[in-house]
Amino acid sequence: MVVNKTNFLFDIDGTLTLSRSAININFKKFFLNWMENKTVYLVTGSDKEKTIEQIGIEIWNRVKKSYQSCGNAVYENGKLIKKIDFTLDEKLKSFLNTQLNKSEWIEKYNVHIDQRIGLINFSTIGRKCPKEARKRYFEWDKKYRERESICAKVEKHFPLLEASVGGEISIDIYPKGKNKAQVLDEIIGPVVFFGDRCEKGGNDYPIVQRLQMEKEKRNYIINNVSNFKETWELLKKI
Ligand SMILES: [Mg+2]
Repeated sequence: MVVNKTNFLFDIDGTLTLSRSAININFKKFFLNWMENKTVYLVTGSDKEKTIEQIGIEIWNRVKKSYQSCGNAVYENGKLIKKIDFTLDEKLKSFLNTQLNKSEWIEKYNVHIDQRIGLINFSTIGRKCPKEARKRYFEWDKKYRERESICAKVEKHFPLLEASVGGEISIDIYPKGKNKAQVLDEIIGPVVFFGDRCEKGGNDYPIVQRLQMEKEKRNYIINNVSNFKETWELLKKI
């Protein structure tokens, strides 16, 4: 693969950073160097503000495009160049509140429903939970798969919507097909993708599925990493 013709596409949470945390300072230095003369894209469920908080403005400004809200808000050189409108209606709101009340996870904090550009983020524990509680929820959810089950319910009750598990404590909801895979409509040529939720139901899965489906049309490499250190090791070899 000719490196400078290759499009490098990165998820952020769990791939370039620890979940919801700032990027490791040494990895950031490495990454900024590594980016030189490469075509780099970001794709994340987070909004612009959260992403800049996590990876810093230097990386964000230097990528070719940053696909926020799973590609439902697209930034180029710091400017919003495309967005889709999707807002919470009463029916979905009441459905999510029901899920919240029915949740067997008892320890709850604020901000369960977060409206972002083109996407709704839903968390039963709540986005304002302390770090320790976040960890506990993540482990609990691994066992009881609450988020997976809520995603399935959303899709069953709202056939025009799609939901996926992302990060550690929440799910993303958006119009059907408006998942991370839509960024591949705009990226022409070979793709090297790095993501931590490539399994079915994960928010990177649509990208993986789409690349595999279109395998006749382009070269690609999927790097399903477990953390940023693994990403770092892989990038050292490129
Ligand atoms: Mg991720």
